[in-house]
Amino acid sequence: MALVMVGDELLDGRTPESNSRYIIERLRRKRARVGSIRIVPDRLEAIARAIEAAWRESVAVVVSGGLGPTADDITRQALARVVGEELVEDEELVDQLRRRYRERGRSMAHSNLRQALRTPSGRPIANPRGTAPGLLHLHEGVPLILLPGVPAELRAMWETTAEAVVLPLVEGSAPALVRLRTAGLPESRAADRVAGSGIESSELEVGFCVTPFGVDILVQGRHEEVDPTEGARILIDALGSDLYAIGETGLDEVVLDELIRRGETVAVAESCTGGLLGGAFTAVAGSSQAFVGGIVAYANEVKMRELEVPESLLVQHGAVSAECAAAMAEGARRRLGSSWAVAVTGVAGPGGGTPEKPVGTVHLGLAGEGSTRTRLLQLPGDREQNRRWSVAAALDLLRREMKAPVAGSLPT
Ligand code: ATP
Ligand code: MG
Repeated sequence: MALVMVGDELLDGRTPESNSRYIIERLRRKRARVGSIRIVPDRLEAIARAIEAAWRESVAVVVSGGLGPTADDITRQALARVVGEELVEDEELVDQLRRRYRERGRSMAHSNLRQALRTPSGRPIANPRGTAPGLLHLHEGVPLILLPGVPAELRAMWETTAEAVVLPLVEGSAPALVRLRTAGLPESRAADRVAGSGIESSELEVGFCVTPFGVDILVQGRHEEVDPTEGARILIDALGSDLYAIGETGLDEVVLDELIRRGETVAVAESCTGGLLGGAFTAVAGSSQAFVGGIVAYANEVKMRELEVPESLLVQHGAVSAECAAAMAEGARRRLGSSWAVAVTGVAGPGGGTPEKPVGTVHLGLAGEGSTRTRLLQLPGDREQNRRWSVAAALDLLRREMKAPVAGSLPT
């Protein structure tokens, strides 16, 4: 399976290439993997050369982008050159396009006819989300699949059509993989835990992947016949409460699911994360069932006025202190009427550090029914990393306090 991503915007920094990531994720669930990704500019020779090379090396080729109506959309032409056919206008596609434009109360420009072109032996792929149809062309038994670059359209067409063509050719060709998601462990400690578990063997490959929430440990057989389940079981025991999910579920979802299961709610009080923690909660669909809201209290006056942090506390301990984190959490819980409240206050950097409170000093507060706890983090990153890690640690603090069960399970 090979991918060709077409577009000048992918090479000059305008658009981060993300379509390949989506396809890789989808395939991974079916134990299939992508052998290569080529990113090429909107130039006929470059696209044709990439399609040809991808075709030579793999059992299926997916090409994304360059199917639109403008002159720089030339992926169909490139395909035609590779397979040695002349493009023809598909009358049914012309009718379809006309109808689509009419339904939207617009007339079709002549340039849109480009989208009705296909190779004589190719078959159009319907686009439920846009006007540009895709194209499926079997070239000496290898499917070449052209999809539009617009991510929402590519995804819809992958799911309705392309995946069914590709999967039978590649499914099960990669070794099974178990993803163990941990929070609160730096990569080096995660590696120590793996080494200490006794899981390592000549049959298994263990990889690490740093995510916004922590470190994922990937357990995989060295070849297709090896089942990683037993090895994963050993690791799961060794990881204990540092494991939050087996599979794909995120830390944010684990925390929200547990809150919803308990019928409880959460609020946030944020200083150095400036809303990122609330953002993390609300990124999960259905978060309104448990997340009530938050207060971004950056200035001390806001901490005092909106979160009822006593001025004397701020004078005595400073805003970056366990005392302040606890008071912020308690204030947010009171003001917003939630079951739980999580607070973050710290020095994200690069400025603002002192010998007692260097950059990366972050205090978390967690207020619940009848008790409040705090946690000190000493983060080694830059401003962006420190803010991101603070969010993960805040989510993790609540997860541990609720003893949220591990999401997912091993294949049986
Ligand atoms: P159409 O022109 O009909 O919308 P198209 O097939 O010509 O479809 P492109 O013009 O290549 O698509 O891309 C459309 C949009 O999709 C652009 O905004 C581009 O940034 C985005 N896009 C294209 N390819 C990718 C990709 N590989 N990853 C993420 N975004 C992409
Ligand atoms: Mg383009």
